[in-house]
Amino acid sequence: MQNGTRAALVTGSTSGIGLSIAQRFAAGGYDVAMNSFEADADVAEIVAAVAARGNGRVRYFRADLADAVQAHGLVGAVIAEFGRLDVLVNNAGVQKVAPVEELPPADWDRIRAISLDSAFHTIRAALPGMAARGWGRIINIASAHGLRASPFKSAYVATKHGVVGLTKAVALEAAEKGVTVNAICPGYVWTPLVAEQVRDQARVHGLSEDRVVREVMLAPQPTRQFVQPEEIAELAAYLCGDAARSITGSAISIDGGWTAK
Ligand code: NAD
Repeated sequence: MQNGTRAALVTGSTSGIGLSIAQRFAAGGYDVAMNSFEADADVAEIVAAVAARGNGRVRYFRADLADAVQAHGLVGAVIAEFGRLDVLVNNAGVQKVAPVEELPPADWDRIRAISLDSAFHTIRAALPGMAARGWGRIINIASAHGLRASPFKSAYVATKHGVVGLTKAVALEAAEKGVTVNAICPGYVWTPLVAEQVRDQARVHGLSEDRVVREVMLAPQPTRQFVQPEEIAELAAYLCGDAARSITGSAISIDGGWTAK
């Protein structure tokens, strides 16, 4: 392992799972690059609170990951600021619940662009530097929906299956370079992304919002409990340790038993 403070980029890190991962890395002493599409002033308090968790540098990089040029440029901007990028967490993602025949093509494109295409662009930009230094970690936040399907989520399920495939292919390419590449596949985690889809789920399933939580969201999750964002963050931190050097090309479930069925 190389010396010096490691630098980590977490995409989509002003909310939910990404924010938890950024907090965990800051507390662990990393230099942390946070990202979303939001204006700097709108996220300044969130970024300052993350910075207060540790002694490393915490910087915010505005980039809309639906745009290929901005996704690729984000990595360059982080390397320009920190001088290196050791850990890349592709976390940004959006959701849309609708029957396939009612899903606007623009939503299909946007879901795929933000989660899958952006991961391709950031990995392309980040991997050469990691390989040159002989150490790196790439973590793609996929989903239980990268391994299983649910109705009314065609774009999301297709995208997350793609993220798992991308993970495996790049892991093989990076295997002899000291760089591991893994996907984390959470079940339902209580975040703004999930809270916002309760209404849409209620509409397409014809259920009340309470019943959606019990009978749609937590039904496939045998623990009947939401995963907490901090649990995902701990797993990400573990994958960045040297003890995890042999874990690569894996799709690691953290889903309350969902995919055991
Ligand atoms: P969230 O809505 O709380 O956070 C999403 C983050 O992505 C925000 O910081 C947002 O600003 C950012 N983002 C959205 N669009 C962006 C864009 N175009 N460019 C840059 N940033 C953008 O969501 P979350 O629940 O924390 O989800 C994070 C990841 O975890 C997603 O990839 C999601 O698919 C995945 N996931 C979530 C769950 C869950 O139950 N919450 C389960 C499995 C997987």
